[in-house]
Amino acid sequence: MDFNLTKEQSMIRKMVRDFAEEVIKPRTIEIDKEAKFPLDIFKQMGELGLLGIPFPEKYGGSGGDTLSYAIAVEEIGRVCGSTGLSYAAAVSLGASPIYYFGTEEQKEKFLTPLAEGKALGSFGLTEPNAGSDAGGTKTTAIIDGDDFVINGEKCFITNASYAETLIVTAVTGKNEKGRNIISAIIVPTNVEGVKITSNYDKMGVRGSDTAEIVLDNVRVPRTNLLGDPDKGFSQFLYTLDGGRISIAALGLGIAQASLEKALQYAKERKQFGKSISSFQAIQFKLADIAMEVELARNMVYKAAWLKDNNQPFTKESAYAKLFATETAFRAANQAIQIHGGYGYMREYEVERYLRDAKLLEIGEGTSEVQRLVIARQLGC
Ligand SMILES: Cc1cc2nc3c(=O)[nH]c(=O)nc-3n(C[C@H](O)[C@H](O)[C@H](O)COP(=O)(O)OP(=O)(O)OC[C@H]3O[C@@H](n4cnc5c(N)ncnc54)[C@H](O)[C@@H]3O)c2cc1C
Repeated sequence: MDFNLTKEQSMIRKMVRDFAEEVIKPRTIEIDKEAKFPLDIFKQMGELGLLGIPFPEKYGGSGGDTLSYAIAVEEIGRVCGSTGLSYAAAVSLGASPIYYFGTEEQKEKFLTPLAEGKALGSFGLTEPNAGSDAGGTKTTAIIDGDDFVINGEKCFITNASYAETLIVTAVTGKNEKGRNIISAIIVPTNVEGVKITSNYDKMGVRGSDTAEIVLDNVRVPRTNLLGDPDKGFSQFLYTLDGGRISIAALGLGIAQASLEKALQYAKERKQFGKSISSFQAIQFKLADIAMEVELARNMVYKAAWLKDNNQPFTKESAYAKLFATETAFRAANQAIQIHGGYGYMREYEVERYLRDAKLLEIGEGTSEVQRLVIARQLGC
């Protein structure tokens, strides 16, 4: 076994950390407070090639691997959960399905601008009455001549207000068992009938755009169908397996930030004439956080490694997502505790880590759904 990062992976870590520290960090409090999507930061991330890390150069990407991409999400998440979530969603959900399942033409037309960072993509699966149970999708896409006519509603969709393309899931027919066939279709956001509104007032990841989408007789060419129409469901399960690695990496970044802040504060803060880091109660908290961060990192990197080596990774990406996101929440909570009353104040940032981390236990499959995925993989 080799736990060393390659030269490229180490270079990506350094490049993203420098960018995150210099460009994103000074803005994180404002991004959260004003709930403002940092479009200018995404433009710079695009110029650095971050939006295209896991895609081949042929499609405007940087030709990196999943592990490099996970490291990039971790580093961005370490300074800003909002930016990290929008970044992970743009790459894993907005662009990756086109890379995995798109035709050559679709890759050239839709993936290239996303990988180059010239446009943002979004993935609309969730509906008001179809969340964990994505099979309950009500949006329909009916064939009319050379087009699909799509009608339906999507909710909680990351980046949609700033996206040029949406990938939406819709019922396109019934199989021989009478069950709905759910397919994925690429919908440019400038097509008539697409209405995107972003009015959610969120607890955390406040600078990440989250939108509702109404599709009212939206007409797109049938050539915008993504992948095999009969395998739409298994295709988006594969997409989510990959996406979970990035949400896990984001959790890892928030957990790492919580550890760093808590450790620094514990060394500086004095009570009873001593720094609080000399109290065993505080040391044990720090030791537990550090151990869990290390475990989470091993899980996230292993899941990414499996994907990069074309091995099954469904179970491991669920392990990683479940453990790393719950670690982020626990670590942020203990970081607040170690900060005492100051931790409850916004300027110390650890309360933001907790609010941002909470979302990670919900999005891209709740913690309960991850446990279901793992149990299924165990043969239950
Ligand atoms: C900020 C944000 C960004 C998001 N971005 C996107 C996006 O870009 N694209 C997208 O498609 N979606 C997105 N989502 C939606 C997200 O994936 C869903 O919210 C999530 O999958 C849960 O669905 P739900 O909210 O309908 O909850 P529900 O499915 O109604 O779940 C409610 C509760 O019941 C539990 N539950 C449900 N079914 C079971 C079961 N079988 N066994 C045990 N427990 C169960 C859940 O775990 C949860 O605790 C986003 C959500 C948020 C909040």
